[in-house]
Parts: sequence; structure tokens; C-alpha cells
Amino acid sequence: MTTVRALLAAARRRLAAAPFDAPPREARLLLAHVLGKREVDLLGGDGDAISASAAARFAELLERRLCGEPVAYLLGEREFWGRSFRVDARVLVPRPETEHLIEAALALPLPPQPHFLDLGTGSGCIATTLACELTAARGVALDLSPATLAVAAGNLHRHGASSRVRLLASDLGRGLALSRFDLVVSNPPYLALADASAISTEVRDQEPHLALFSGERGLDTIERLLFEVGPALAPAAWLAFEIGAGQLDPVLEMAERSRLEPAHWIADLAGIPRVVVLRRRAT
Ligand code: GLN
Repeated sequence: MTTVRALLAAARRRLAAAPFDAPPREARLLLAHVLGKREVDLLGGDGDAISASAAARFAELLERRLCGEPVAYLLGEREFWGRSFRVDARVLVPRPETEHLIEAALALPLPPQPHFLDLGTGSGCIATTLACELTAARGVALDLSPATLAVAAGNLHRHGASSRVRLLASDLGRGLALSRFDLVVSNPPYLALADASAISTEVRDQEPHLALFSGERGLDTIERLLFEVGPALAPAAWLAFEIGAGQLDPVLEMAERSRLEPAHWIADLAGIPRVVVLRRRAT
């Protein structure tokens, strides 16, 4: 029989030695998950005994974590804009930077019953959040991968948004009448293949490549948003998407040649321009 204190101390030592950034707090998160408790419930219970079976389950999760599996996959969920989303290796883990995309969308002067389109929905966190926050909105969420759509469907259902958001397997809205949307949002893949060796193995080796990488410079999908999706939008419709570090200038340059007019951009908490908002030109 071991105790919470002994298990956590050993786990923290091993996490500290991991070849990637694994905050010591993750030990308590994983143990709370195994015990079916909240993290705060473990505070103060350091001397509590842990059964052998719980210790074995914890050891298994810790090994997976030490092999680089993201904590969100081990816990099976991640919070985004105040709601919990189920995630697994089929989808990108929702990130706090992407909350700026929601912030940008909610600040737009949209019609009372807006129609939105989410391109590359992944876990469905963006589409679900928009549907929950804009209670009169209807949306369509697309992803290339049917396996991913199953995860998004679960999350829409979980938050009561299934009846207002339609899911489709499609490549950036090909075959869809894009002119009926007031707002198109996307967290596209934008990492550069050229930088792949410099990206944390935790991300590169564990999360879906389709959701991460887009061409040598990371700009291929964004280019398609500007030049394939943009021209098909109705005049004055909005297009808002996430970008990577250093991509604001090339994106604004591309936009100059497109049918879209940059409206504004938002920096993330690290000061990196992260979300660009554009509007379809009238002519
Ligand atoms: N923001 C992710 C990362 O840097 C990349 C996701 C994406 O390409 N949209 O890990």
C-alpha cells in the first residue's frame, strides 16, 4: 500500500526529467483522474492510502505521459472557453490561443441569426462554442477526416448544440454554397514542414499531422482560405482565422491580392499576432 504523497513525489521526479516541458502539477492531475476526484480533493490528503489497482492505473498513465502523450489525451478532455471537450489522438488538443478566435468572432457585428462555417473543425470546440454563445446562430462544421467528425459530433451533442450545427466531411467547403455564411472561422494547419524538426515532439509525434502542417512555409491552407474560400463569400461576409508566429506579414501581403480586406488582428497573451479578421470586399 502506498500513499498519495509517495506516488506524487516519485511521479514529479520522473516528470521533471522528461525531455519536454511537463509541469509537476500534471502528476496530481493524472492521479485525481485515476481516483475519479477533482484535483483540489487531493490537496491536504497527502497521507491517504492508494489501492494497488489505482497505483497501477496511475503508473500506466504516467508512462504514457513520459512517452510524450499530451495530458489532454490521457484525461480524455480539455477545457475551451469554459466548457469541457472530449479529445483523443484523432483531434488537435484545443489551445488557449484559439480562444482569441472566439473573442474575435463574438465581437463582430453579425446579423441577429448568423450563419457560420467552421473549416477544419477537429474536436468541434470552435463550432460548439459559437453555437453556445450565439444562441440564435446556425452553423456548418467541416473536416476532411470522418474519424474527426465523430469526435466533433460527440462534443456538439454534449453541449446541446447538435441541432444547430451540421457536420460534413469536406475539403474547405468544396461544393458548398459559401455565399450563405455571414462568418467563416478556421483554425487551419499552419506549421511549416520546414520547421518540423524544431517542433516539440509532444506535438509533432502525437497530434494529427493534418491539423498541424501545411506546406513548406505553413501557409498553404491559409492561401486557400484567401483565394478559394474568400472569393466565394457574400460581399461583407467575415473570414477569421488563426495564424502562426511570424505569419501576419505574409498573410496581409497575400490578402492584398485577394478579394478580402483585412479588418484587424489580435495578439495572443505572448504578444504574437494570432488571429486575423478579414472582410469580403464589396466588389
Ligand atoms: N497552435 C498549434 C501549435 O503551435 C498549431 C496548430 C495549428 O497549426 N493550427 O502547436
